Amino acid sequence: MNSYYITGIILSHENIGEKDRLITFLTEERGKLRAVARSSRRISSKMAGSLEPFNLVRCWMHTGKTFDIIKNVQLIKTFPNVIKNIDIYITASRMFEFIQVTVQENDESQDMFRLLLGVLTALDRYDSLNSIKVFFWLNVLILSGYRMRLDRCVCGREDVKGFSPSMGGVVCIDCMLKTNDSILISNSALDTLRMYEQIRLSSAVKREIPDTLMKEIDAIIDRFRLCHTNIKLRSEEVTI
Ligand SMILES: [Zn+2]
Repeated sequence: MNSYYITGIILSHENIGEKDRLITFLTEERGKLRAVARSSRRISSKMAGSLEPFNLVRCWMHTGKTFDIIKNVQLIKTFPNVIKNIDIYITASRMFEFIQVTVQENDESQDMFRLLLGVLTALDRYDSLNSIKVFFWLNVLILSGYRMRLDRCVCGREDVKGFSPSMGGVVCIDCMLKTNDSILISNSALDTLRMYEQIRLSSAVKREIPDTLMKEIDAIIDRFRLCHTNIKLRSEEVTI
């Protein structure tokens, strides 16, 4: 029987049968991975407490027929503040749901793992929520193959006035009139998106984005994400 170790963040779990659980991880080594925790719903199970969403764990696995089997779990880190605060919880749930849908199984994605771990750590520290969101969504879209064009219009003009998801990013006034999904973009939103595409998370979390500006940026990112990935997140139904 083949065995191996993984380090992973738990994205979700679901019950199977009477006693078992199917756990979905984003792992450092193998991208998304689904594996079974046998008898983990028994009260006496040592694994149960560790195999909860948002936890970072190291697991000893055996290769199974349909799903691999989790033989041993070591809890490395929990992020307790993420579940204590409703705004942070909803933010994290959307991120987790998107990753669960977009990342493929056995797809090596160390960058995706590092991004999620970094963002989860920042959320747990109560760093600037708006900054973390913008940083995450720009970067997760880039890692998924969807980079916004922010430098100039598709026609080459640098004096951009709008944003068109279907045209892949910013557009000049003439190209804007040729599309039916363009929205106006303010200079502040444009500057912020351009900056957050370049900076590291450690520098993003030190910045603040005012709520009014965030509203505009959120709309741009959501439209772009929906247009290119076609993923409507379940957690988007939740309103505060
Ligand atoms: Zn143009």
